[in-house]
Amino acid sequence: MSTTPVKTWRETLAAVLEWSPVDKGQIMMLMLVPVLVQYQLWAWAVLQRPDREELVNVAALTRLMWSEALLAVGAVLLIGLGRWLRRHWPDTLWFQHVSAQYYTLTLCYLGYQVGMNAISTGIVLLGAPVFGFIVMNRRVIWPATTTALVGTLGLSYCSALGYLPYAPVMVQPTTPASELFHLNSMLGFAAPHFIIILLLADQTLSWWRQREDTIRELSRTDALTGLNNRRAIMEMLDKEVARTRRHGPPLAVVILDLDHFKKINDSWGHPTGDRVLQQAAQVLRQCIRQTDVVGRYGGEEFMIVLPDTTLEGAAVLIERCRAQLAAAIITADSGETFTISASFGLVGNEQNMVLASEALIKLADDALYRAKAGGRNRVEIAAAA
Ligand code: GH3
Ligand code: MG
Ligand code: MG
Repeated sequence: MSTTPVKTWRETLAAVLEWSPVDKGQIMMLMLVPVLVQYQLWAWAVLQRPDREELVNVAALTRLMWSEALLAVGAVLLIGLGRWLRRHWPDTLWFQHVSAQYYTLTLCYLGYQVGMNAISTGIVLLGAPVFGFIVMNRRVIWPATTTALVGTLGLSYCSALGYLPYAPVMVQPTTPASELFHLNSMLGFAAPHFIIILLLADQTLSWWRQREDTIRELSRTDALTGLNNRRAIMEMLDKEVARTRRHGPPLAVVILDLDHFKKINDSWGHPTGDRVLQQAAQVLRQCIRQTDVVGRYGGEEFMIVLPDTTLEGAAVLIERCRAQLAAAIITADSGETFTISASFGLVGNEQNMVLASEALIKLADDALYRAKAGGRNRVEIAAAA
């Protein structure tokens, strides 16, 4: 039975950052088609009005409807091409280039037809690249943004200098009613871009933040045991050492190493060895206090940092951990049961609060060595430094 989790459309959308370059190219075309449909509907609605001659240049608008239809067909064809490419060549970037340029040139053309100096142009010109830089490849967005700037500025200057008519589709408003029509039309043109860009940016950024939290968590977690990994536990030790250095409170550190672990692997198999590590981690997690931290220091070595703890207090706590580890019953893959033990080296800094992390580790290690030499399954305390 397949256990692949089914993604909701919201999760799929939010994970847009992980889409293939071709899929990302398609998203631009998928945004463009509804925009073209909306412009068509707008044109159709205007042409139904009795006062259409006062609002738009009917001949130019009819021509525009044809070109919009062609542009929509082009976009649909590009979506089709994208569907083919995503199966055969999903990582190619040129499709994104083509889509971005098509999107940009289409919007420049539409913008020119209804008037560039409008709020809609500003929103699209600013919003599209900002969203583009988040989601798309920057090597695609820079050229497309350049095209958009050159296009809008070029067309605006050509209109201003009289080489091209300004907003050939629109009749310049003269009455309050046509003024209102003009404003509503411009806002209507901007609205879908505004809404889509805002929603997608919101979704993408929140997903991005989630992903960053997950990655940060993963980079500090040991994959097998779920404990802090070596880097994380060392960082915590450094932090506690820095905190205790000036005036205390005292700090205790423990390094422990499972006894005869190689033999466990040899006798029961590596997978059982892995389970022993997981079970040992579980025991350690449960026997420490909430303010203490435990991490996997090496293969079958763990480190426990006990902030604000005297050596005496730590010895009691660690002795309890040792006993709990020794009492744990492990079931091998074969079904047989066995027990484990560990040797502990404990160090406290009451005598010398300026000891650096390395010095504490060295002292704990020496104590651990003595615990091993002394017969294992015991806690040795480092001699006061
Ligand atoms: P001692 O009592 O002196 O500590 O003996 P030991 O056998 O525990 O020590 P040794 O350092 O010789 O062996 C450690 C073993 O731990 C060797 C290595 O294969 C095993 N080991 C290290 N990491 C893992 C792991 O992630 N999973 C498993 N199953 N074994 C591991
Ligand atoms: Mg060992
Ligand atoms: Mg070892």
